[in-house]
Amino acid sequence: MTSTLALLGGQPTITAAGPHFTWPPIDDTTRAKVAAQLEEAISVPGRSGIVAELEDGLQAYFGVRHAVTTSSGTAALHAGYWAAGIKPGDEVIVPAWTFHATASPLFHLRAVPVLCETGPDGNIDPNRIEELITPRSRAVMVTHLWGKPADMTDIVAVAGAHDLIMLEDGSHAHGASIAGQRVGTFGLASAFSLNGPKPLSGGEGGFVLTDDDDTYHRVITFAHYNKRAKSEIPNGQPLARYAVTGAGLKLRIHPIAAAIAHDQLARLDGYLAERAEIARYLNSRLARIPGLEVTEMPEGVVPSWYGLTLTYRPDVLGGLPIERFHAALIAEGATEFDRPGSTCPMNQLPLYQQPGPLFPGHPHSHRRYRAGDFPVAEYAHAHTIKLPVWHREQDLELAEQYVRAAVKISDHHKELL
Ligand SMILES: *Cc1c(COP(=O)(O)O)cnc(C)c1O
Repeated sequence: MTSTLALLGGQPTITAAGPHFTWPPIDDTTRAKVAAQLEEAISVPGRSGIVAELEDGLQAYFGVRHAVTTSSGTAALHAGYWAAGIKPGDEVIVPAWTFHATASPLFHLRAVPVLCETGPDGNIDPNRIEELITPRSRAVMVTHLWGKPADMTDIVAVAGAHDLIMLEDGSHAHGASIAGQRVGTFGLASAFSLNGPKPLSGGEGGFVLTDDDDTYHRVITFAHYNKRAKSEIPNGQPLARYAVTGAGLKLRIHPIAAAIAHDQLARLDGYLAERAEIARYLNSRLARIPGLEVTEMPEGVVPSWYGLTLTYRPDVLGGLPIERFHAALIAEGATEFDRPGSTCPMNQLPLYQQPGPLFPGHPHSHRRYRAGDFPVAEYAHAHTIKLPVWHREQDLELAEQYVRAAVKISDHHKELL
C-alpha cells in the first residue's frame, strides 16, 4: 500500500500556491499615503512632516516622552547602546538566543556581549543573570522572542538590585504587554525594528523609545547629526556643540518607510486582536497533536504573535527527526511551517566564537563562545517549529488546512521512520 503522505507520493493537504502569508498588509489607503508622501517630501532632515507624525504616534501608542526613528532596528540598537553610555570594555548581558543584531552593535562600541542562558521559550532566564555579573557589567538587554514578553518583573528586579541599566529589544513584540504595560517601556530605553515581517513594519526602519531627556539627546547626537541635532538639542546642553557632526553617523529613516509605518501603526491594535483570535484557534487544535507542544502564555501576558512556536517532541513520534517531520509538512503544501534559521543561539555564530578577525583587539577574549555552551537555548532552538499568525477572518480556513497537514503527519509518522 502506498502512503497518503505527500512526502511519500500521496496527495498534498494544501494545493493553493504559496506564499500563504505576506506582511505587512498593503491596501489602497497605504498606497494613497505613499503617493501623497512622494509629492510632499522624499527627504526629511529634521523632526518634521511624516517623521514627526510617526514619532508623535509612537509616543502616544507607547506612552513615552520620546520616540526617535532610525534607518533600521540594528541602527536603533546601536544608537540605544551608545545613548545609554555603554563604553569600551563594558559588559552587557544579553539573551543567548535572539537575532544577533540585539547584541552585535556592541562590537562597534568595543563593549562585550555576555550571553545568558534562556528558558525553553527562548527568553532570557532571570535566574541565570546574577552569575554573569562582574564589576564591568553595565546593562541587561532583553528580547521578547517571537513576540512573547520576557519575564520583566524578575529581570527588572535583578537589574535594579545590581544597578544595571535595563534595555529592551522589542523588534518581535510591538504592542505586546505584561499586565497592561507595553514592552519597550520597562527600562531606560528600548529599540524596535520596522523591517519587513515585523509586527509593525515600514519595510525598513526602526526606532528608539525613552522617557529620559538626556538619553533622547544622545540618540539624536548618535543618529541624527546636523539639522535635527541643531533644532532638538537645547543650547547649554553639553552635546549641543557637537550638533553639526553628531558622533559621525547618520541613521535616518526614509520618509516613504515612515509613511508606511505610520499607516500601519493606526492598524496595529486591530492586527494584534485579530491575530490573537487565529492564534487561539491554532493553539487549541495544535495542542492535541501528538509530537507537538504549544507555548503557554502566563496570566496577564499579551504577545504580538510575531511567531506561534511549537516544541517538537521526537520521543513521542518514535524518534522521528524534526528535519523529516518538517520536510513532510512542506511536502503537504504547509510551506509556512518554519524552523528558525538565522535567529539562533549566538554562541553558534562565528562573530561570537571568534570576533578577532573582524574586530582586532576587541576585549571579548575573556568571553569566547562555542556550540554547546547554552544547552537550554540550543535544545529549544533545535526543536522549534513555528508559524506566522494570520489576521484576517478568511485566513481561518488556511489555518485549518495547516492544522490538518500536521495531524496527518503525526497520525502517519510511522511511515516516515
Ligand atoms: C529584525 C531584528 C533586529 C534588526 O532589525 P533590522 O531592522 O532588520 O535592522 C534586531 N533584533 C531583533 C530581535 C530582530 O528581530
